[in-house]
Amino acid sequence: MPNLTFDAIIIGTGQAGPPLAARFSSAGKKVAVIERGKFGGTCVNNGCIPTKTLVASAYAAHLARRASEYGVDIAGPVRADMKRVKARKDEVSGASNRGVEDWMRGLANTTVFQGQARFIGPNAVQVNDQTLTAAQIFVNVGGRPLIPDMPGLEQTSYLTNESMMDVDYLPEHLIIVGGSYIGLEFGQMFRRFGAKVTVIEMGPRLIGREDEDVSQTVKEILEKESIDVRLNATCLSVEKSGQGIAANVDCTAGAPRVMGSHLLLAVGRVPNTEALALDKAGIEVDQRGYIVVDEALRTTNPKVWAIGDCNGKGAFTHTSYNDYEIVADNLFNNAGRKVSERITAYALFIDPPLGRVGMTEAEIKRAGIHALVGTRPMTRVGRAVEKGETQGFMKIHVDANSKRILGAAILGTTGDEVVHSLLDAMYARLPYTDVARAMRIHPTVSELIPTVLGELRPLEK
Ligand SMILES: Cc1cc2nc3c(=O)[nH]c(=O)nc-3n(C[C@H](O)[C@H](O)[C@H](O)COP(=O)(O)OP(=O)(O)OC[C@H]3O[C@@H](n4cnc5c(N)ncnc54)[C@H](O)[C@@H]3O)c2cc1C
Repeated sequence: MPNLTFDAIIIGTGQAGPPLAARFSSAGKKVAVIERGKFGGTCVNNGCIPTKTLVASAYAAHLARRASEYGVDIAGPVRADMKRVKARKDEVSGASNRGVEDWMRGLANTTVFQGQARFIGPNAVQVNDQTLTAAQIFVNVGGRPLIPDMPGLEQTSYLTNESMMDVDYLPEHLIIVGGSYIGLEFGQMFRRFGAKVTVIEMGPRLIGREDEDVSQTVKEILEKESIDVRLNATCLSVEKSGQGIAANVDCTAGAPRVMGSHLLLAVGRVPNTEALALDKAGIEVDQRGYIVVDEALRTTNPKVWAIGDCNGKGAFTHTSYNDYEIVADNLFNNAGRKVSERITAYALFIDPPLGRVGMTEAEIKRAGIHALVGTRPMTRVGRAVEKGETQGFMKIHVDANSKRILGAAILGTTGDEVVHSLLDAMYARLPYTDVARAMRIHPTVSELIPTVLGELRPLEK
């Protein structure tokens, strides 16, 4: 077996590995990049990019159906051509996938290996029949869909976010198990494509990590589009029923059985860590298989770092990319950056989207912080009214003593963008009173942020 020596080995080409490879390459270092699947990983091939491309098609169909509300006539019924919807998705996602592969193959001083990597020692990795060693190794292996231990699942065919990427037809009735971020995005998009959709959630509400008012409003938004939401499905089982699927739900309301044509599982993700033989390198994982890291994302092996979803410190493209920034800044600039310095930020890309930063109201209450809260329904946001998109609300929390912004939920048109002005103020550690004084552009959703901050009231404990 040939033994090849590098300055850095990067396992996985998710959102952190490729920019790190480029950073090492531009520093004149010898780099090995190993990828067992499609270049670009989850976000590029079956996560953010393809799903947001599909969300855009679904939005077009939705708006076309509402066209007469805007005084626009469309002759004939609106129909999603799923083959063309998928082709558009494939084009956008494929361009990104090719971009990452070409980027990696074109990097100076870099060798790309295609195959499954596994550790055979503290600084040695095997891929295919080759042994690679390096002074520093970076693990960016991401995750995959969790397949739950659900009665009947072994005898039933099902889809995951990965196999959904091949769907070029309209399911008659899509049953989605899991009422969280991934399930809700697929649910709304397929309803808008024309499928009947039922979302089954085991918990008492959708997106259980969010505040109750957010969960409730999201449920109302989905139900308004005739998506059936079944909560408290604590004893869920599935079985084949004729050509379709029957889901037996133990809900507090509604029929105990849901009949559908297709089943999508969206109940969470697991890290791709078990195939890496991490024990051979002295790298510890936690009970759920996530690699244990310190503040600088270093594993229990001081020469190995874990970046992206596999370290359990984030589950987003931006957290993975931020992991790269932290590691690169520390290694190349001795910056002393810590992962705990980053502020929670993410979005739920249903329409209208939910933009979230910082603490939730429930977290603020649990922490016993003396806080103020400001809210505003989107029906009282001029731009939302003009666009005919008035569902949702804004909610901002500030610390009554320090005047710092603690967190926000902007559920409404462009909420995923609007929330960034608060995020920037949080990073800049600005008192909310400075944000409240800024003159903002009219007519935008963002122009109401100072207004909300001017109408704060004490948060009830
Ligand atoms: C349906 C869906 C929608 C999403 N939407 C969003 C969104 O809108 N916004 C957002 O921020 N995030 C979103 N995410 C999450 C986002 O996709 C991930 O957080 C992001 O891709 C970061 O992943 P990563 O860098 O950890 O690795 P990944 O992107 O998962 O890549 C890991 C790579 O490692 C490779 N690999 C694994 N094991 C090995 C091995 N042993 N040897 C060699 N190679 C290996 C894999 O083949 C893969 O290419 C979504 C996820 C899903 C599933």
